[in-house]
Amino acid sequence: MEVARGASVRLHQLRLYVDNHLHDRYLAPPLTVVVAALLTSWVPVWQAVLWAGVELAVIAAYIGVYLRFRRADPGPQDEAHWTRRIALAHGVHMVMWSSIVVWAYVPGNLNSLMFVMLVHLGLISLTVAMSNPHRRLLLTDLVAPTVALVAPTLHDGTLFSFGLTALGVFYVTLMLMVGLKIHASTAETLVLRQRNDELIRQLEQQVRRDGLTGLSNREHFVATGRNELERAARYRHPLALLMVDIDHFKQINDTYGHLAGDEVLKAVSSVCGEMVRANDCLARLGGEEFAVLMPETALDQAIVAAERLRLAVSRLQCELQDGVVTPTVSVGVAIAEDGQETLSSLMRRGDLAMYEAKSKGRNCVMVAPAQAAQQVA
Ligand code: GH3
Ligand code: MG
Ligand code: MG
Repeated sequence: MEVARGASVRLHQLRLYVDNHLHDRYLAPPLTVVVAALLTSWVPVWQAVLWAGVELAVIAAYIGVYLRFRRADPGPQDEAHWTRRIALAHGVHMVMWSSIVVWAYVPGNLNSLMFVMLVHLGLISLTVAMSNPHRRLLLTDLVAPTVALVAPTLHDGTLFSFGLTALGVFYVTLMLMVGLKIHASTAETLVLRQRNDELIRQLEQQVRRDGLTGLSNREHFVATGRNELERAARYRHPLALLMVDIDHFKQINDTYGHLAGDEVLKAVSSVCGEMVRANDCLARLGGEEFAVLMPETALDQAIVAAERLRLAVSRLQCELQDGVVTPTVSVGVAIAEDGQETLSSLMRRGDLAMYEAKSKGRNCVMVAPAQAAQQVA
């Protein structure tokens, strides 16, 4: 769980990193052209053009990787793979950009030294601003420009150059500290946001679930029932309802105790859960009463399903501390057919059929008469 959460936070960080760096689309190409123009002060035009051409191709390649990443919308399990791909694509860009030091630095020429240092100080600042969401990429992105920043001054070997090297190192250290600080605070926010999302998900689940059995509760059933009735009426599709009540449950409670009764309730719920389809809504309405809402289900299919459910419960052997209980259920089936019926009327007809099953001796299925027939009667 913790590992999954870590990967999911890193994936968010990677997304933020990519979002930031997508601005390169507009920033990097013109900067490349300007720097190539400046490069002509030190290198022949063809070399500056070659550098700019290769760099523009590299920019196109890594922007392509970013766009593919966004399109793929990967899950946390693919985070490591995409981090490697992006590190490689963007790393080539950082190396290309830092290779300016090879072209533009002329030992002993202060102008060229200032140019190279300015370009790399700018590059380091931009990198920290854009790469800070992802710690590993921030660190790898900074390697090439940092080397390029301090290499010429180290190479010069004069006291003045060493001073410049020290300034460069201080600057990179400071920028790195700021970048890591921003990274830590973004990471904390992301973790908090993830915990909040998880809590909200759990709360939403709890609001819909019955605490003892884990089935849908009455409120969720009523809301789902109203929606399904409306849908069934609009598209003229059949909708079935099963009202299920455990037989002589009070006796089980009285004989084995309330906690043992709870175990029976859970066992019956679990068997019912196995018997219904994923689209059906199985709920505990209260006490030892359950209901199953079955969209797209006509009478004959509903009777088969009710019979299957009744049989499965009757085969259940609940091993309690003080003995074995074999619960049974009585089931009432009602079909909403005419597109007019309200949920409470459908449930009332289901209840009446279920009471009839009780009066017929329990552990059986009875069907409610059609609404029209009932109104006439
Ligand atoms: P019938 O066959 O006619 O349905 O009889 P019954 O005994 O099942 O029905 P009755 O309504 O007389 O009793 C239902 C019992 O269910 C009474 C109540 O104490 C018990 N009950 C309601 N909620 C719970 C619960 O959450 N846990 C337990 N263990 N018992 C409960
Ligand atoms: Mg009962
Ligand atoms: Mg009851």
